[in-house]
Amino acid sequence: MKKLALHWKILIGMLLGLVFGFVMLQIGGGRAFTEDWIKPIGSIFVKLLKLIAIPLILASLIKGISDLKDISKFKNIGLKTIGIYIVTTVFAISIGLALVNIMQPGDGVSEETIAKLTETYSKNSSVQAKIAEASKQMDSGPLQFLEDMVPDNAFNALSNNKLMLQVIFFAIFLGIAMLLIGEKRAKPMKALFDSLNDIVLKMVDLIMLSAPVAVFALLANVVVSSDDPDILYALLKYAGVVVLGLVLMIVFYCVIVATFTKKNPFWFLKEISPAQLLAFSTSSSAATLPVTMERVEEHIGVDKEVSSFVLPVGATINMDGTSLYQAVAAVFIFQALGLDLTFADQITIVLTALLASIGSAAVPGAGMVMLVIVLESVGLPPELLPIGLALIFAVDRPLDMCRTVVNVTGDATVSMIVAKSVGKLGDPKVKNWDDNYDEVK
Ligand code: ASP
Repeated sequence: MKKLALHWKILIGMLLGLVFGFVMLQIGGGRAFTEDWIKPIGSIFVKLLKLIAIPLILASLIKGISDLKDISKFKNIGLKTIGIYIVTTVFAISIGLALVNIMQPGDGVSEETIAKLTETYSKNSSVQAKIAEASKQMDSGPLQFLEDMVPDNAFNALSNNKLMLQVIFFAIFLGIAMLLIGEKRAKPMKALFDSLNDIVLKMVDLIMLSAPVAVFALLANVVVSSDDPDILYALLKYAGVVVLGLVLMIVFYCVIVATFTKKNPFWFLKEISPAQLLAFSTSSSAATLPVTMERVEEHIGVDKEVSSFVLPVGATINMDGTSLYQAVAAVFIFQALGLDLTFADQITIVLTALLASIGSAAVPGAGMVMLVIVLESVGLPPELLPIGLALIFAVDRPLDMCRTVVNVTGDATVSMIVAKSVGKLGDPKVKNWDDNYDEVK
C-alpha cells in the first residue's frame, strides 16, 4: 500500500468500513462489537484532529498576519473573503430552492409515511434537543454574535473548541499588534509562532498516517448506528434533491476555480480530496480544518497570509452545503405537510438560511438546529416543528456527511480565489511526515 496516494488509501478504508458495518449488522452482537471495539478508533482520530485545531489556527493566523508588510492588505483580504463567502452561500441557497421547487420531493410523501416518521422521531430526545437549542439561540439580540466573538479571557477561548471565532479574534488582534511594534521587536514572538506552525503541520502529517484505518472505524460505526432502511427509502427523493444540489455546488466550484485561477479543476479536486473524504467521514468541518489547511497550503500553493485567515473563518461561517440543505429541507417539510409557501417566504428562506449557516457550528448535526430557525421564520407553527424535523431526521446523518464535503470544498475554493486575486497563489511545496526523519531516528 506504500505507493498508493493518500486519497486512495482513505477511500479503500471507507469502503471496507461500509462493508464491515453491513456485515456486522447481519451478525448477532455485531452492532455492540463495533460500538465497543471499532468506534473508539474513529473517535480517537477525531479527537487528535480537534486537539491541534486551536494551536494551528493561533500559530498560522499570527504567522500569516505578521508576515504581511502592511495592515491594509489584511483589510483587503478580509473584505474580499467575507464578500465571496456571502455570494457563494446565496448561490447555494438559490440552487437548493430552485431544485426543491422544480422537483417537489415533498408531494410524494404519503400520509402513512408522515405518521410513521412522526411516531418514530418526533419525541426523539435528539430532535427535542435541537429545538431547545434553536430557541435558546433565537432569544438572543441582533448583535449577540458580535459580542460572542470577543473573548474576555484569552485562555478561556483557547481552551474551548466551540469558541473558534474568539480564537480568531484574539490571533488577529495579537498579529496586528505585532506588526505595529515593528519587525525587530516582534522577532522573538514571530519566531515562536513560525516554529509552532511548522510543528503543528507536522502533527497533521503524523495524524494522517492513521486516516485510512480511522475512516474505516468511522464509517463502520455510521452503518451500525443508521436507521431502518425502509424509512431511508421513503425519504429517497428528498435526499436525492439535496445530493443533486450538493453535486451542482461542486461543479460550480470547479467552474470558478477554472475561471478565476486558471488551474485545472480536476487537479484541485484531487489535491483537496483527503480533506473532502475526512469531511465525509467525520461530518465536521471543524475537525477537518487542520487537514484542509495543510492541503490548501502545501498541496495547492495558497500562501499562509491568505489561508490562515480564509480557512478558519470559512470553517465557522461559510457553509454552502448546510445552507443549501436548509433551503431544500424547509421547503420539503412545507410540501410534505401540505402547507403553502409564498414567493416572499422563499426570499425569507434565502436570508434566514444565509444567517443560519453563518451561525451553525462546524460540528455534526449543527445544520438541523439552525433549520428550526429557518422554519420558524417562514411561519411553521411551533407544534408542527417536531413533526417537521421528524420527517427529515432519518436521513440527516448521511446528508450531513455530504454537506460537510461541500462546506469544506467551498472554503478551499474561496481561499484559492482570494489568494489569486492578491497574487498569493504560488506553486505547491509538499512536505512529508518523514522529511527529516533520517536526522532523528
Ligand atoms: N456538519 C456540518 C459541518 O461541520 C454542519 C452541518 O451542516 O450540520 O460543516
